[in-house]
Amino acid sequence: MKAFELYDATTVEQAVGLLEKYGPTSKVLAGGSDLVTGVMKDWVHGPGMPYPEVLIDITTIPDMYGISVGDDGLKIGAATTLSDIVESKEIQQTWPVLSNAAFSVASPLIRNFGTLGGNINQRPRCWFLRGEDFPCYKKGGDFCFAVTGDNTYHAIIGGELCYIVHPSDTATALLALNARTTIASPSGQREVAFDEYFIGPREDVLRENILQANELMVSVQVPTPAANTKMAWTKLKDRQVYDFALTSVAVVATIDGGVWQDGRIVLGGVAPVPWRAEVVEQALVGKDVKSAARAAAALIRNQARPLSNNAYKVDIAVGLTERAVLSLLA
Ligand SMILES: Cc1cc2nc3c(=O)[nH]c(=O)nc-3n(C[C@H](O)[C@H](O)[C@H](O)COP(=O)(O)OP(=O)(O)OC[C@H]3O[C@@H](n4cnc5c(N)ncnc54)[C@H](O)[C@@H]3O)c2cc1C
Repeated sequence: MKAFELYDATTVEQAVGLLEKYGPTSKVLAGGSDLVTGVMKDWVHGPGMPYPEVLIDITTIPDMYGISVGDDGLKIGAATTLSDIVESKEIQQTWPVLSNAAFSVASPLIRNFGTLGGNINQRPRCWFLRGEDFPCYKKGGDFCFAVTGDNTYHAIIGGELCYIVHPSDTATALLALNARTTIASPSGQREVAFDEYFIGPREDVLRENILQANELMVSVQVPTPAANTKMAWTKLKDRQVYDFALTSVAVVATIDGGVWQDGRIVLGGVAPVPWRAEVVEQALVGKDVKSAARAAAALIRNQARPLSNNAYKVDIAVGLTERAVLSLLA
């Protein structure tokens, strides 16, 4: 591993100033469970992904840590650990889909120092991206090795150009919760809906979200759910210990007398962004959930474009979505 400079920022402004000063070779450091133990130690870099030379620790910024609940909903500092989110009684009670998604991340040890901001902004787990010998699009190369290589775990939806899947469980839940995030940049702070936050390879193959090199995520805001809101989280993994999602599904919906009023269904592990299954949501509006769930979930098949080794994920996505939607009736 190459030597790097480390700064302990104490304010958001200072962190952004350092990012601005050092440019794309500087990186925000939170728990470091992906950036240091993954990206840097595995030597993942290329012309489009410069090796980090300056790390700016944001866990030393008191303003970026903590969970608060007010009239307008929930606010979580981006440097808050996943364990703190899991243990929050208020989140368990009012936003259980987030609590359960955070609980399904990695292992207790990683959740103890892994942060919300780090989880949402972690880089993809594609084995070609993480392999030294593959100069793929994301590293500034001109090929996606998943197209001709082993693509067992790659995207089945929206994977043009590059076929990574978005790895974050909390991002999937937060998109279903219609959350927003506050971003700090040299010109100040702005709020962005998660609907606008994640970007696919066509928009920019070098990144997975709208953050520029001189910006950082400060906090996440989640609205208070309307009355009659039901939530579900389900995640299928290859093995029953800590692992990334083969597919996960987060559902947040209002249901009245068994009839779907309004809701958001988001799938993780299937696309380069947390993927909102609007086609399923629309098919459920005004319908009896119990009788409509199967046909609505099956509409995912029309959206899927699996690769040579991963058509099995289409079946999983359909089955898991039906199961998650039906679980709202329990
Ligand atoms: C063995 C293992 C299993 C895992 N399993 C899962 C899983 O099942 N589900 C899942 O979702 N994740 C999983 N992960 C990923 C893990 O959750 C992340 O590594 C962790 O959440 C990242 O948090 P961190 O604070 O350590 O981030 P860091 O490693 O410090 O940062 C990760 C990335 O986010 C950027 N970043 C961090 N904070 C901010 C911020 N505030 N603003 C802008 N950019 C920021 C960093 O620059 C870096 O690029 C697993 C990881 C491991 C090692």
